[in-house]
Amino acid sequence: MLFATANKIRINHRMKKAFVKEMEELLLKEKERLEGELEQFSTKNPDNSDDYNAKFPNLGDKEDENAEEVATYSTNLTLERTLESALRDVNSALKRIEEGTYGICKYCDKQIAEKRLRARPGSSSCVECKKSLTQEI
Ligand SMILES: [Zn+2]
Repeated sequence: MLFATANKIRINHRMKKAFVKEMEELLLKEKERLEGELEQFSTKNPDNSDDYNAKFPNLGDKEDENAEEVATYSTNLTLERTLESALRDVNSALKRIEEGTYGICKYCDKQIAEKRLRARPGSSSCVECKKSLTQEI
């Protein structure tokens, strides 16, 4: 009986390692994609790999071109913030993999369901905590 339990734990541990590896690959791919998108319209802050600054587009000097520039810049700023925040989530998830705390909810210290991590590899909290947080707001 005791043996059976010990074996089970070992198997679970091994599965988890493979799962974490799988999530790491997803996260690295996502990081590459986000950085690629950010680089198309913004420059990287050389002192901080998570920080990008949207470039001001130069379309011309006519009035409508100037208006277009401002509109494009404002769209890019919004997009930059969205992508940057996604990139930060990905980077902190990769850091948690390095530290061996990946998949643990930051609020209740329980394991986050694999299904949730598969859907959002950057998740840092379990569904229950996320739900109670959203309800509080
Ligand atoms: Zn939790």
